[in-house]
Order: sequence, then C-alpha cells, then structure tokens
Amino acid sequence: MGKKNKNFVEKVTAMEDDFAQWYTDVVKQAELVDYGAVRGTMIIKPYGYAIWENIRDEFDRQFKETGHTNVYFPMFIPESMLQKEKDHIEGFAPEVAWVTHGGDEELEERLVVRPTSEVLFGDYYSKNIHSYRDLPMLYNQWANVVRWEKTTRPFLRSLEFLWQEGHTCHATQEEAEAETSQMLNVYADVCENYLAIPVLKGKKTEKEKFAGAEYTLTIESLMHDGRALQSGTSHYLGTGFAEAFDIKYLDKEGKQQLVHQTSWGVSTRIMGALIMVHGDNRGLVVPPRVAPTQAMIVPIAQHKEGVLDKAYDLRDRLKEIVRVDIDASDKMPGWKFNEYEMKGIPVRIEMGPKDIEKEQVVLVRRDTGEKEFVSLQELEGRLPALLEEIQQNLYNKALAHRTEMTTTVTTMSELKQSLEDKGGFMKAMWCGELACEEQIREETTATSRCIPFEQEKVSDKCVCCGKEAKEMVYWAKAY
Ligand SMILES: [Zn+2]
Repeated sequence: MGKKNKNFVEKVTAMEDDFAQWYTDVVKQAELVDYGAVRGTMIIKPYGYAIWENIRDEFDRQFKETGHTNVYFPMFIPESMLQKEKDHIEGFAPEVAWVTHGGDEELEERLVVRPTSEVLFGDYYSKNIHSYRDLPMLYNQWANVVRWEKTTRPFLRSLEFLWQEGHTCHATQEEAEAETSQMLNVYADVCENYLAIPVLKGKKTEKEKFAGAEYTLTIESLMHDGRALQSGTSHYLGTGFAEAFDIKYLDKEGKQQLVHQTSWGVSTRIMGALIMVHGDNRGLVVPPRVAPTQAMIVPIAQHKEGVLDKAYDLRDRLKEIVRVDIDASDKMPGWKFNEYEMKGIPVRIEMGPKDIEKEQVVLVRRDTGEKEFVSLQELEGRLPALLEEIQQNLYNKALAHRTEMTTTVTTMSELKQSLEDKGGFMKAMWCGELACEEQIREETTATSRCIPFEQEKVSDKCVCCGKEAKEMVYWAKAY
C-alpha cells in the first residue's frame, strides 16, 4: 500500500458481521473520538464535540426556558459528605475514584471525584435555603463526572464523561413530582425532535432506580442491533437528601419543613445512541437538526475556470439559511464523497461545469443516497425542506425499527426465544416481585427497562412466576 492510499477513507466493518466492531470503526473513522492515555477515557475530537455542542445547546435552551439556572460546583467531595446518605453511597461506592494525596502529602480525609453531585448540592442547599421565599431553587450544572467502570466503550461507558445534572428543591411533593415529569418530557422532546430517536417513557423498577431516589423516570431507546439504551433519567428524591443534609425552610406559617428534591441527567451516552440508531455501513448519519454541517459543497472538476468561484458564491448564499461548508481541497471528489458520508453530513451538494452551465446543482441525501437536480433559483426553498424530510425520515425509520423489534411475550420460554431470535424490546407482564426480575436477568441477561406510562394488559399473569400480574414492563438486553 503506497502513501497514495492514505487519501482514501478506510471501510468500516459491516454492522451485520460485527456490530461492536462497526461501532468502534465509526467512532474512529468519523473522527468523533480518540482513546485517552488512561484506559477507558476518551478524547472527544472537534467533529464529535461539535455534534455534542448542538445537542447540549438545545437541552440548555429548554432548561432555561423551564426556569433553570446554570451553576458550577467543585469536582471533589469529602468522604464524610458522601457517607451522609446511606443508599446513595452504597450505590456509587464500587465505582468512585479516590484522591488520597495532595502532592507528597497524604490527605487527612480522602476525597471522591464526583460520580454525581447530589451531596454537594445538598450541602449547599442546607446553607442557602431558609424560607419558602427561596423556593423553588432550580439549578443545573454542565460538568464532567468520573465512574471507575470495568469495561468501557467510547460514549457508552467511559471512566469520565460529560453530562448535565439538574438539582432542584421544592416546597411540596406535588411541585417536585411535576418537575420530575417535566424534565423527562424535555429529554424526550430533544431526543425525538432533534436527535430523531423515538423513546419509551416510563418508570424504573425499585431495583433499577437511582441510589437514594424515591423513584426514577426514564426514557429508553432501541439501538440498531436490538439492544436498549437508557437515554436520560429524572429522579424524584423525596425528602431523603433533605433529611440527611438538613435542608429545611420556614413555611408561610413559620413552621420548619423539609424540601422535596429532584435530580435529572443526560450525558454524552446520547452520542452513542445517535450513532447506533441512525448509522449504517457507510458510517455515521447525523440528523440535520444537530448536524454541525448540514450541507457540504463538493465542487466537481474544480480546476476548470470559474468552478471554485461559483462554489464559493453558492456557499455564501446558502450560509444565510443552513449550516453549510465547502471542501475545495485538492482531494478527489470520490474521496470527499466517502469522507462526508462517513461523517454523516445530511446533504452533499455537487456542482461542476455542466451544472453551472445549466444553472443547477445536484443534491445527494445521506440517509437514502437519492440524488436530485435543483435549479439555483429553487435551491433556497428546496434545501431546508429537504433537510426537514431527512430529519423526519430518520425518525420514521427508527420508529419502524422499534415497532418491528418489539414483541409481546407471555411465558418465559417465549421471552427467551424471542430475545435469542431477534432481540429488541419484550413487552411482558410482571408481578412486581424482585425475585422474578432477578430470575429474568439471570436466565436471559435482559433487564427491566421501564414500566411504561402507556400500560397494556397483555396477560393476567407474571411472565416469570405465573402469579397475578401488576403491570406491563419492557425488558431488553441493554448497553
Ligand atoms: Zn412474578
């Protein structure tokens, strides 16, 4: 292989052959991440970070629209502070990173690098909330957190990742519960309308809920290989942390009351969902609404007189209406086509001498590969409409896939068989007993994903023990 071949985009492993390898190939070749020096850490490269920024910005906009303010808290937590809420520390202890030394000196008290910040916010709230006038307190933090995971994969599970964590305090349970639902709806909205990822909304079982929460609401999405991914969670914390941290306020009657709290988070894991829901064997497919570049102009026969000038004119015209870029490098058009398909740029605009003569361009969609000729006059109208069509098509495709990959089962043998044969979501009734949930996990490796808000009675009996069923649960193998 000569040096010349370096100019060609390498192929990715076919997802049908090895989905895990396909994923690794795409994150590398689409230039989303690189591996960090410490095992399990990742470097988010410019293109990956630009997509994350667009996702982050939409979440941030909606957080602010719903009355939240951004803050930044320190990354270190004293050990004694983490110990204050018993369930919480038990849940997180196995994966916390400890700081034991500052320079050469051993610290008097060990520090934890935040795995999440409930206790830091709890400590702050106890000092800063005094009266009902201080409520609600609606904070959000964009930060990195560290969880010492044993097996790691870029975006899906890494020692350090980026996320936001909302932490709010309310006077009443009712208000806090309304907040918990509201933020789940914000998550669902961004996932469905920006990332084009359909989600199931529901409640986690007791076993799967956040350590220290009264209950956890979740959005669950389905990846191309039939595995589920928890894509965002919103927790009603009740008064547990308020008791542990003594977060009280004086109500209007002058009585001391505990606050009711929520916390909620989405992380760079959502990038993993974007890759695994929309990607194909040519690489990444980015939904137009979060794509850093929505349309890439590739001049054809650009050495011919006037082509580049026209291509730059086109870019200047279009940049008023879409996020557009041009590749005027001296690489071959074929190389550029592959490169931007790999990066999942929604539309490619080709323009060569013949097109200039005819006053037209060629638009090529990344999602379907379809080409269309559009006159320059109509382009400003057509391009935004095409981007919307692509956005909608990606959502529809993902929804059709989820529907196809959702199976109703009423017995354990059906559950096992179906998980084995095609994977995806299994709808099955459950008695509510932990023993059955654990048995299902042991026998199938599938976990309860959520108790959906939209309940159906697919049987009277628990899929596992055959006793009277309480509710329908979605089960799946998950990332
Ligand atoms: Zn049961």
